[in-house]
Amino acid sequence: MTTSKLLTGASLSRMFLSAPDVGQLEREYLLRAFDEGWIAPVGPDLNAFESEIAAMIGWPGAVALSSGTAALHLALLEVGVKPVDDVFASTFTFAATANAITYCGATPVFVDSESSTWNMSPELLDAALADAAQRGRLPAAVVVVDLYGQCADYEALVPICRQYEVPLVEDSAEALGATRNGQPAGTFGDVGLFSFNGNKIMTTSGGGMFVSPTIEMAQRARYLATQARQPAVHYEHTDIGFNYRLSNLLAAVGRAQLARLPDMSKRRVAINEIYRQAFSDLDGVEFMPIADDGWNGWLTCVVLRDAATRDRIMAALDEQNIESRPLWKPMHLQPVFRDATAYVDGTSQNLFERGLCLPSGSILSDEDVERVCGLVSRALTAHP
Ligand SMILES: *Cc1c(COP(=O)(O)O)cnc(C)c1O
Repeated sequence: MTTSKLLTGASLSRMFLSAPDVGQLEREYLLRAFDEGWIAPVGPDLNAFESEIAAMIGWPGAVALSSGTAALHLALLEVGVKPVDDVFASTFTFAATANAITYCGATPVFVDSESSTWNMSPELLDAALADAAQRGRLPAAVVVVDLYGQCADYEALVPICRQYEVPLVEDSAEALGATRNGQPAGTFGDVGLFSFNGNKIMTTSGGGMFVSPTIEMAQRARYLATQARQPAVHYEHTDIGFNYRLSNLLAAVGRAQLARLPDMSKRRVAINEIYRQAFSDLDGVEFMPIADDGWNGWLTCVVLRDAATRDRIMAALDEQNIESRPLWKPMHLQPVFRDATAYVDGTSQNLFERGLCLPSGSILSDEDVERVCGLVSRALTAHP
């Protein structure tokens, strides 16, 4: 038994961007669920995990699912997305956002970022919706992503969606625990979702949560997530369902992680502060702007002078077995979506070309982060 490895993450010799931060508490919760026999199909941890997330964000509806992607798929179905529909989405995101749109048979249309949050540009969304209205083809939904743990500019985005009466789905997969003007991430749109994938701010090893402002929407999502079984002993079916529910064992891990989320988030913000201080007198390193101090700290992202500099830093870190990664490649530049309509102005492409995510996991020590800082500074100044 290697509890010490679990506690320190020492079994991972490579330094990852965002390694799982799990230890004794997670182990206790998981084994308690196991020992009490709550293996399947549901159980008290699953219900409690949902209630705890609901209480944290102040919405009554929460449904624990097998992934954030599954949550997004159900969110889109909940707001009525159907085959032949268009769905507008942030182009600067992970592919899961766009993939879920295609699971509904709908067509993604991409909208670029603004520079102040790196999230969907209200101006471009407004222009895109005006254009769609003129063509008589308004989208069935707008999916706004809260990138790298920071909420989008909802004071601007929400009224635009309301004006065109298009539902807003908040993809808060990366932003659990974040707030904007004090309001919790996940609650700005008509429905929202979180991810508990292994690299997110907290993890169940894999999982997600659909959240809604009404219990009825959550009940509907729970029904669709469990094969759409009507209450009859022989399982009557009137809808196509999915097998998307989270297991009770993983929900137990999620409860332990959720209890530690405030501390893990604080640690990530502190790591960001170490990077900021270390790079404060370096030219040519810009940080992701933090528009609201409710940012959850998920990943520290920087933008370098040019792609060559970024690639040199990435290579120098990789040589020391340290993971770093470019920012998300915008969806409108992905081969699989090359034919999609896109309202873009170059903002996300520019960030993708020069941007870099640095190791940010809450298991990292100050010494780990300082080592990364030293390597980045050296790579930057070696070839000015
Ligand atoms: C991680 C992520 C998802 C998908 O979550 P999974 O739990 O990995 O399925 C969706 N959207 C964004 C923006 C993400 O970063």
